[in-house]
This record gives sequence, structure tokens and C-alpha cells, in this order.
Amino acid sequence: MTITNAMRSIITTALVLFLADIGLGYAGNLHNVVIIPIDALHPNALREADIPTLRQLVESGTYTLKGRSTDPPKTLIAHTAMFTGMSPEKNGKTDNSWMPGQGAIEKPTIFNSAKSNKYQTGYFYSKQKLGYLVNDAIDVYRLPRDNAIDLAEAFIKTPGSHFLFLHVSGLDQVGPEYGWMSPEYLEELSFIDDYLSSLVELIKDKQQYLIIITSDHAGHDKIHGSQDPEDYRLPLIICSDAVSVERYKNISFSVVGLKKIIENLLEKDVF
Ligand SMILES: [Zn+2]
Repeated sequence: MTITNAMRSIITTALVLFLADIGLGYAGNLHNVVIIPIDALHPNALREADIPTLRQLVESGTYTLKGRSTDPPKTLIAHTAMFTGMSPEKNGKTDNSWMPGQGAIEKPTIFNSAKSNKYQTGYFYSKQKLGYLVNDAIDVYRLPRDNAIDLAEAFIKTPGSHFLFLHVSGLDQVGPEYGWMSPEYLEELSFIDDYLSSLVELIKDKQQYLIIITSDHAGHDKIHGSQDPEDYRLPLIICSDAVSVERYKNISFSVVGLKKIIENLLEKDVF
């Protein structure tokens, strides 16, 4: 080997190490990472509703019913904590409202972590105020009227590795109208479960996936966002064919801690 070739080899090695170090490497073995907050999902509903899709994720993965939302437990405040991994006091979003044209999130979010891991990032949400969380680490985002799950499927079918956040609405309307855990509420969850089935099937068929189901807050009677302990409760289901999720079984967690849990799972994605 000539000196020139040796130097070229050293430079190439250094460049590869440098690129790996700054996170420009391959996304890893998790090809599809999908996080689905089902708005206003009370953990007890997972025990009482007819939900074959979610039950199958529980049985092939793991779950806990011991999560806690932000204070107060409200949609945008909880989602901002989920995305940033910071409490409302730290991330600055302590009110539950946002309109297009107002300032958006400035803190880095879970999408920045996903982007640095080379994922195509998608964010589909069903409430206008969740537009507050759109930042430049998101490749595709939409606020569809009622076909968020269809758009999510189309996104997963595009080439590459995907990191998808899919906010699912429905229980947040049925809860205040008929009551949390009412027959109508449980029926709405069955409807959501059925609607999610083809997306879950698609992700599983593609293999090397991580699916996380959670929520932003619960509720009681026809009330949510209050200081009643039931309003703070959250479920978490984690299912993967590529990383071990067993250690999350029955853990106590906070919505603020979800970002770290997801990042840990992405980091473990190295064989
Ligand atoms: Zn909500």
C-alpha cells in the first residue's frame, strides 16, 4: 500500500466514524416506528371494550395502565410534554389553546430525534391546536377532517424508514357527551380499534416495527381536565418484533417520560 492509499484509507475511516457520530448513519433495524395517542383513552377501557387489534398488540408486546398526564391533564399541554420530554413549566406550553398564525413550538421534539436517526417523519392529527407542535423536523404533516388513519397508511407505504405520530380523535368527543366508560364510549373505542386494524396489519407485514399506543389524558363522568385522579390516568402499549419491550411491563410512567422511553427504544435498535 502506498502512503497515499494509506492516508485515503485513514480519511475514509475517519469520515465514516464522524458520520456515525453525528447521527447520519442508517436508521437501524426499526424500519417503522409508529406512535398513536388515542385522545382521552382511559386505561380501564382496554379491559372492558371489544378491541381485538389492541388486545393483539398487548398480547404480543407489553403494557402498563399506570401512566400519568400533565397538570392540568389537557390535550395540547399533555401532547407538548410528550413531544418535548419536558414539563409544561419547562417547555413553556401551560395553556391548552393554539390557533394557526400563532407562534409554534421552539423546543426540540421527538421528531428532531427521529430525523437525526434518518427517518422519514410524519405527523397526522385531528385537532387544529395540535398544529402548535409542527416543526421543521417533520417531513409530512396533515390535519385531515376524518381520514388520519388512511393518510398514515399511505405514508407508511412510501419508500424508506418511517417515524409516524398519529393522533386519533373520537373518545374526546364521546366522553364529554355520554361519559367516560359509558357503553357509547366503549363502542367508540371498538370503532377506533377496527379502523386501526389495517394500519397495524400493514406495519406488521413490513416487519422491524415498533408500535406504541398511549393517550394524553382520561376523564370521569362527562368531565375531563379536572383535578380528579381519574383524569390523569394513561395507558401504554408497546409492541415490536425487533427490540425488547419486556422491561416496560407494568411500569409507572409520566407523559413527560415518553420521549425518553421512545429514544431508549431507538437506541436499543442496534444488534
Ligand atoms: Zn385530549
